[in-house]
Amino acid sequence: MSPSPKAHPTAQTPETLDTSRDGQDTFVITPEELINKLAIPTFAINSDHVITHWNLALARASGLPADEMIGTQHQWMPFYSHQRPTLADLILEPSPKEMLDKHYLGKYKPSDLIEGAYMAEDFFPDIGKAGEWLSFTAAPLLDGQHNIVGAIETLVIISERKHAEQELIAREKRYRQLSQIDDLTRLFNARQLRRELSRHIELCKRYDQPLSLVMMDLDRFKQVNDTWGHLFGDKVLKTFADIIHRNLRTSDEGYRYGGEEFILLMPFIDEQAALQATERIHAGFCNTTFITEDGSELQLTVSGGITRLRPDDDYDTLLGRADAALYEAKNSGRNTILISRQ
Ligand code: GH3
Ligand code: MG
Ligand code: MG
Repeated sequence: MSPSPKAHPTAQTPETLDTSRDGQDTFVITPEELINKLAIPTFAINSDHVITHWNLALARASGLPADEMIGTQHQWMPFYSHQRPTLADLILEPSPKEMLDKHYLGKYKPSDLIEGAYMAEDFFPDIGKAGEWLSFTAAPLLDGQHNIVGAIETLVIISERKHAEQELIAREKRYRQLSQIDDLTRLFNARQLRRELSRHIELCKRYDQPLSLVMMDLDRFKQVNDTWGHLFGDKVLKTFADIIHRNLRTSDEGYRYGGEEFILLMPFIDEQAALQATERIHAGFCNTTFITEDGSELQLTVSGGITRLRPDDDYDTLLGRADAALYEAKNSGRNTILISRQ
């Protein structure tokens, strides 16, 4: 290790004082002194993977004193419940990248600051009671001829930061879902329909693929609410949404467009195939028996309008035609699904 470039007279002690050739006083600070005053847990190993340095911060953080660790190959001990290579061990391998990919894939990157050094972040389930997140770095140690003679590793606990990050990500996801999904039915909401339908119109036009849109509306639903109450009405809406969930293909999407109006977005199929899928939903709902508060049985119906994407369509014209077909279905006596004739 190089001597400190500047002497500081008040810090001199007989053991560290070194007199250089030109007569100026300089200090020699031992590697032990440097490493022990680093507040970051640090250790070093030689090319045989034997610990040469184990600083005070690491001894205190791990409860493993330097005199028990130096001279051993137990550098894994504070971090793992079983023997395995640490980052410092891996960078001493002939092809470190291969080894790093094996042990830390997607969790490490080369250091921007130190050649040959790597940094990584990982969760260590064996540390403490509930595990800890660590940010750790390892750099090769070179001799005067630039041969790798060992490696030094530093470790910082980042669990608090990681948990805050994870909490933020989870909250963002929750908010995103809340802004996309209708609470009562767990179907996508109307806001999401505008985004998704516009995107699908673009895609299906570009790749010359069919797309069908279905609008469904429960029949005489106001009467259901008026007779059996709003809560009963909500139960009916939920049941209808469950039938939609059960009958859609994974590429289809169901939306709650308004109070008791629903949209089915069916990419890659024409109106005849869409009619078949919609009739399954129609039959599923019409065959459901609801039990009312007074114990009587109630069966309800639903109407629907279907249309298929045309080359000159946009969001409003496509939705408008499905709405018109639904209106026709209502006018023709309800409890029916019609394909747009426009
Ligand atoms: P039509 O067959 O012509 O569709 O008749 P309708 O009674 O279903 O039509 P209308 O649009 O007049 O009534 C819709 C009703 O849906 C009115 C409202 O009470 C009810 N509704 C809307 N949103 C909700 C909701 O979130 N929960 C419940 N329970 N009812 C709702
Ligand atoms: Mg209705
Ligand atoms: Mg309605």
